[in-house]
Amino acid sequence: MKVIKLIKVKGLCVGVKAKDLESGQVHTLKGKVIINATGIFTDSVRQMDDPKTKNIIAPSQGIHLVLPKKFLPSDTAILVPHTEDGRVLFMVPWHNKVLLGTTDTPITKPSLEPKPQKSEIRFLLKYAAQYLAKAPKEKDVLSVFAGIRPLIKAEHSESTSSLSRDHTIIVAKSGLITIAGGKWTTYRKMAEDVIGKAIIIGSLPDRPCITKTLHLHGWKEGTIPSDPMSAYGSEARFIKAIEKEKTEYKELLHERLPYKQSEVIWAIRKEMARTIEDVLSRRTRALLLDAKASIEAAPLVARLLAHELKKSPSWIKKEVQEYTKIASNYLIPK
Ligand SMILES: Cc1cc2nc3c(=O)[nH]c(=O)nc-3n(C[C@H](O)[C@H](O)[C@H](O)COP(=O)(O)OP(=O)(O)OC[C@H]3O[C@@H](n4cnc5c(N)ncnc54)[C@H](O)[C@@H]3O)c2cc1C
Repeated sequence: MKVIKLIKVKGLCVGVKAKDLESGQVHTLKGKVIINATGIFTDSVRQMDDPKTKNIIAPSQGIHLVLPKKFLPSDTAILVPHTEDGRVLFMVPWHNKVLLGTTDTPITKPSLEPKPQKSEIRFLLKYAAQYLAKAPKEKDVLSVFAGIRPLIKAEHSESTSSLSRDHTIIVAKSGLITIAGGKWTTYRKMAEDVIGKAIIIGSLPDRPCITKTLHLHGWKEGTIPSDPMSAYGSEARFIKAIEKEKTEYKELLHERLPYKQSEVIWAIRKEMARTIEDVLSRRTRALLLDAKASIEAAPLVARLLAHELKKSPSWIKKEVQEYTKIASNYLIPK
């Protein structure tokens, strides 16, 4: 659902118009407080509120490369605290592969599908060669992916790597609350701070915050990270139950991917997966672990989706085409 407009009454923000991107239907959603937490798109929503408001986000692109485990045959990560341009670099054992990151490249405009630059790939491979068991080449890269950090602008900063990673909360005249910047690892603090602000702006009942001791959904004590089912925590048993429905559901999606058909069925039934990209990029890590293998697995995933969601053969064809297009951005550019 994409917010396309803010609803105002007497200058105060009281809701949003949001478009369901699957059906095209536009919905009106009202709230006592409206919070803008849209990452790199923060400014586009602030400008729906006040077209004259200045940008606060300094978008910074970072890329990661994934390599086969033989390049770091260990359980220990490597951290390089200071590269020649002041970056922190890391090489982390990850899902039986090596995750290599990252870069910090200022960009002018945020986009939904950022593309890794050749110079970023060269930078990471050059540094990795100094620390890994063997110098990796472009042909060794299983997946390359880019993201954009929603950093907050600073007046006198020369590089995005020196910008603060702290979060900022801004309340507009209309009452629209914006939370921007911050980090993944600080999300609970960000949520606590912004809800605290919403309580004041919307005169909501003030209750003590419980985030500090709140477990994530599916939390379970004693999971073993190397177990491929550990990510599901206490729900892993339901996926095992799906495997009893059909023998194929126990099979892997692809010989080079650690995911079974049962996980796709679970993602569709319980995690609202609607597209191949949902399954292979967001519910599992297939696209990030091995982009080519994920493209090869796409037709099977499309058939499973079509069966569960009652879609037609032409939908399968279109979905596979769309996924292949997106996933080719995760292969080393020619
Ligand atoms: C390369 C890279 C490396 C990073 N490394 C780390 C790290 O090591 N540790 C760490 O803690 N953090 C790291 N981060 C930062 C972290 O990923 C971000 O800070 C975090 O994702 C920001 O969260 P957010 O919820 O503010 O924004 P997002 O995660 O971007 O969420 C914003 C959401 O708003 C939605 N949205 C946007 N516009 C609209 C609209 N009009 N209507 C409806 N929805 C909309 C988007 O679809 C998105 O789901 C890294 C980021 C990058 C790019």
